[in-house]
Amino acid sequence: MLYQRSSALFEEAYKYIPGGVNSPVRAFKSVGGVPIFMKSAKGAYLTDADDRTYVDYINSWGPAIVGHAHDEVVEAVKLQAEKGFSFGAPTELETEIAKFIIENVPNIDQIRMVSSGTEACMSAIRLARGYTGREKIIKFEGCYHGHSDSFLIKAGSGAATFGNPNSPGVTSGTAKDTLLAKYNDIEQVEDLFRHNQGEIAAIIVEPVAGNMGCVLPENNFLQNLRKVCDENGALLIFDEVMTGFRLGFGGAQELFNIKADIVTYGKVIGGGMPVGAFAARNEIMNKLSPRGDVYQAGTLSGNPLAMRAGLTTLQLIKNNPNFYEKLNKTTETLDFEIGKILNSKGIAHKINRKGSMMSVFFHTNRVSNFEEAADSNHSLFNNFFHQLLAQGIYLPPSGYETWFISDAINDTEIDKTLEAVRNFDYSDKVED
Ligand SMILES: *Cc1c(COP(=O)(O)O)cnc(C)c1O
Repeated sequence: MLYQRSSALFEEAYKYIPGGVNSPVRAFKSVGGVPIFMKSAKGAYLTDADDRTYVDYINSWGPAIVGHAHDEVVEAVKLQAEKGFSFGAPTELETEIAKFIIENVPNIDQIRMVSSGTEACMSAIRLARGYTGREKIIKFEGCYHGHSDSFLIKAGSGAATFGNPNSPGVTSGTAKDTLLAKYNDIEQVEDLFRHNQGEIAAIIVEPVAGNMGCVLPENNFLQNLRKVCDENGALLIFDEVMTGFRLGFGGAQELFNIKADIVTYGKVIGGGMPVGAFAARNEIMNKLSPRGDVYQAGTLSGNPLAMRAGLTTLQLIKNNPNFYEKLNKTTETLDFEIGKILNSKGIAHKINRKGSMMSVFFHTNRVSNFEEAADSNHSLFNNFFHQLLAQGIYLPPSGYETWFISDAINDTEIDKTLEAVRNFDYSDKVED
């Protein structure tokens, strides 16, 4: 049996941890089978509890963009650890990372650090509401902005995988302040503004969606959102928890040349440590406590170990002028070559890709919103996932997730991946 020790560990974990995991998508519920327990990672590879190794296309859901346990990041964190883990007081390091980010990202004057993407998005809408004095927000079906109450309305991946988009525990009062529209459908957004005049504080959007699989903005969708917000005095929030420092150092704002009013970060910004952040121009950030009256706080916010891991990772990226070019090239190669192989097998598919984010949908047509992502052949994806896993390729365990490519993935790993795809036999069902 391939995953003997993982199975035993899962059984034991199940007794003490709800569902055996600390974050739902890890449980493999979507693809079936037993989640693989990992014990270490280095570069492009994960090693599981049974000592099997995998080329990693999750990369901790994005943060390990320079590869796992990069020597320079490990060294920097070790040195920092020797100075103490947390002081509950300000440090010079927090200013250093804030300054570095603000100088290298367009359109932000101040940044507040938090400990997760969820916290960043939750705080961003509070700030938007406090700033505009309005209560409603617009989000898009299939977009995920963390697990805070306001966002658990058709929230993509985790929620989509489990078929309970509206979680029990979210009050109807909260839900009614979250208005929903289809991704890439500007007319629905305009309708919402027409019917809720003067009430909408902000639109929050994944500028490239990653939580319904990778879905790209089309037909100037983002430009049009900017325009609608300007016309209606609402703020545009770019949730760049996935895209920040991944689509380029300046994220989606830079790539699409659009100014968001508030930007949220997470994942890459912490280099694998628990970090999130939100940022905006002075006028908006000055509303935040302790300077302003919109409250927000965190015991471990700006934690020195986390800041050190994040800053070192961001510096590694910044100091390598070809960083994104290589990532994008690797991803493009995977896209083209996997596409060729699937075509030669006569398997209908659609690969969506932007920068180093991609998804393989088993779909005959384009996938540009949640409905179309849901309409893919997910049981075929699950079969694909398990056959690749058995060959040492670790894909996200759901057809609603995005693959994240790291700088540590080179020709050897690409070849190994393509070989596994070549061996994929869709008539041979491994797992249900
Ligand atoms: C992962 C993610 C979040 C939530 O971040 P956590 O650190 O898991 O709380 C929010 N928004 C987007 C776009 C994400 O991908």
